[in-house]
This record gives sequence, structure tokens and C-alpha cells, in this order.
Amino acid sequence: MLLDIIINFCILFTFAILTYIPFQNKVNLFIPSTKYHPFILGILSGLTGCILMLTAIAVSEHVIVDGRMAVISLSAVLGGPIATFISATIIGIFRMFLYDFSIDSLIAGGNTIVIGIIISIFIRNKPIEFRIRYVPYYFAYSVIQASLVICLLNNWSFTSYLAVFGFVIYSIVSFSIVFIILKQLNNLFNKIRQIEEMSVTDYLTELNNNRKFQEYAQNLLNTNDRFSLILLDIDHFKKVNDTYGHPIGDEVLKELGLRLKGASNFWGGIVSRNGGEEFSVLLPNATVESSLEAAEIIRQAIEMSPFHVSTGDNLHITVSGGISSYPENGDKVNELYKLADDALYIAKSSGRNKVIHILQT
Ligand code: GH3
Ligand code: MG
Ligand code: MG
Repeated sequence: MLLDIIINFCILFTFAILTYIPFQNKVNLFIPSTKYHPFILGILSGLTGCILMLTAIAVSEHVIVDGRMAVISLSAVLGGPIATFISATIIGIFRMFLYDFSIDSLIAGGNTIVIGIIISIFIRNKPIEFRIRYVPYYFAYSVIQASLVICLLNNWSFTSYLAVFGFVIYSIVSFSIVFIILKQLNNLFNKIRQIEEMSVTDYLTELNNNRKFQEYAQNLLNTNDRFSLILLDIDHFKKVNDTYGHPIGDEVLKELGLRLKGASNFWGGIVSRNGGEEFSVLLPNATVESSLEAAEIIRQAIEMSPFHVSTGDNLHITVSGGISSYPENGDKVNELYKLADDALYIAKSSGRNKVIHILQT
């Protein structure tokens, strides 16, 4: 019997892991359109329930114990009401015909279908967070109802109480272990996602960092469509730090990041902080002329409205910009960056607070 329990639990555990990993949308495994997930999950859960019944633990002559209630509850968490209904229906019908079809098997199987329907109604239109939070309740409900049916089918005999005891203990223990492990996996995936996000985000401005900038620029090159790169650098920023202190300098950088993002939205620009007080805007589909126009609008917008900082001061900040364009100035990220930087250098050395395209030089 111990071996049966272990085998049954291993099947339940394998099912939980195999369905959780591909179907949770936090990892990018390719499974055809998410709208089919509840159906695939429901069928997989139903088949697993059938396998669990085939390897069930015989507690008494008429009572078998297995992890099918755990499977139904897990399918509710992962796949929602559709998956629950499908899995409970498959498991219920299979239970009816598992042994000789009889009134008892009809009641046992029908009971599973009813449990599936009730849980489906309970979790309908509910997000996964709700389904996770309330899973102990609908799991408890399914176990209690199944226990009552076991007692009923065994005429409330002493052996039925023993069977129910075994069923309840096995269900709770197996489900709890699987559920705790899935929750831990979920936390782990969330953390991985956060770390992935942090590795491409600038900590101060929350813009893309240089790594993400490189990726975006390369992606734009791969499409072969034209685009332009504007590099922007704050003029005499060292003076801001020297006069007001580094934290106020940080405030200016944050505010500039927000403004660049707001201004670039109009052209679908991709804004990054490439380092220190140097920012970039990738402008998809921008020609030499239109990139110059956009950069000039951004430059003027920064010059026109002072930066209000926490000391109460209004700082007049200006930026200089250098621009290069694909395909005119090269077909590599490094080349385009170098030429935009050259143009920026010229803007700086010819008086600052201006934008220059490398083709103008
Ligand atoms: P230019 O007009 O030639 O660009 O002059 P500049 O003073 O802006 O340029 P410089 O390269 O001499 O100085 C850049 C300054 O930017 C120096 C550095 O302290 C400051 N800086 C770089 N990163 C940060 C940051 O994260 N926070 C703050 N507050 N300052 C930064
Ligand atoms: Mg500067
Ligand atoms: Mg600089």
C-alpha cells in the first residue's frame, strides 16, 4: 500500500510540474495561443485523473483513494473554470465506467462532475491570484463532498469512516506538498523576472540602460527599416552637481528622463540612459530631416521650462544633441553610435544647447 501511495503521489507531482511550467505565462515557452490553454489543461488534468484512478490505493473493497481532487483543484488554479469543468467531467465519466457501471459508480462519478461544476462557478471570471488564494477552500469543499459520498455509498459503515480518514489524509498531504512547491516555483519565477527587468533598466531614471539600448538598436537594424539615433548630453552638468549637490543632480536626471520619454512618445521614440548624464532616443522611421526636427523640439522643450528641484530652485538646464541615421551613416550599432557622438562633440564645441546631424558637418 505504501508503494501505491508513493506511485500515486509521483504521478500527481509530475502532472503538476509538467503543466505548471509550460502554462504559466511567466516563462516564454511557446504554446499556441493562450486562449487554448484552459482546454489543453483541462484535458491533461482529466487524463492525469484517469491515470491516478488506475493506480489508486485500495483502502477497502469498495473504496479507492487517489489524488484526483488535488488534480481538479490544481486545474482550477492553473486553467480556470473551463479547465476545471473539463477535467472534472473526464474524471467523473471515467469513474463511472472504471469498474462495472452501476448506480454506485454513477453516483461517485456524477459527484466528481458536480464538484467540478461548483468550483467552476465559484472561480468564474476570477483572476489567478483569487484562484490561488481560495484554493484551500474549494479543495476542502471537494474533499468533504467526496468523503460524504464515500460514506453514503458504504452505508455509513465503520470501514467507510476508515476509508474516508485515509482519503482525507492522503488528499491533504499530497495536495499541500504539491501546492507549496508550486507556490515556491511561482515566487522563484517572479524573482527571475524582476532580476531580468533590473538588468536592462537604469536604476535612477527607470529608463532602458545601455544594454537594452544596444538590443533595441540591433533589432531596428535587423528590420532594415530606416531609423535615427539622437544622443543627448546635459550641458555643464558638473556645475549643477557642484552648486546644488549630487542628490539634486540626480533629481534633474530623473526629471530629464521623464521629459524625454514624454516628448519621444509622439514619434514612438525609444529612450535610454546610456551612462552618466548622457541619454539617447532611437527614432524608428525617422529620416535625417525628421530626426533633426524631433531633436530640435526636444532640445527646445528642455530649454523652455526650468527644472523644479526639492530645494525650491528652478534650474535652467540645456542639452546638446548629436544625430546619426540608418542607412546613411552605417549599418552597425557601434558605427552609428560613434558618429552620433562625433556630432554631439561638435555641438558641444560649437557653443552647446544645439543639435547637429553628422551629415551636416
Ligand atoms: P558638458 O557640457 O561638456 O557636457 O559638461 P558637463 O559638466 O556636463 O560634462 P562632464 O563630462 O565634465 O561632467 C559630467 C558630470 O555628470 C560629472 C558627473 O559627476 C555627473 N554625473 C554622472 N553621473 C551622474 C549621476 O548619476 N548623478 C549625478 N548627480 N551626477 C552624475
Ligand atoms: Mg554634459
Ligand atoms: Mg557627458
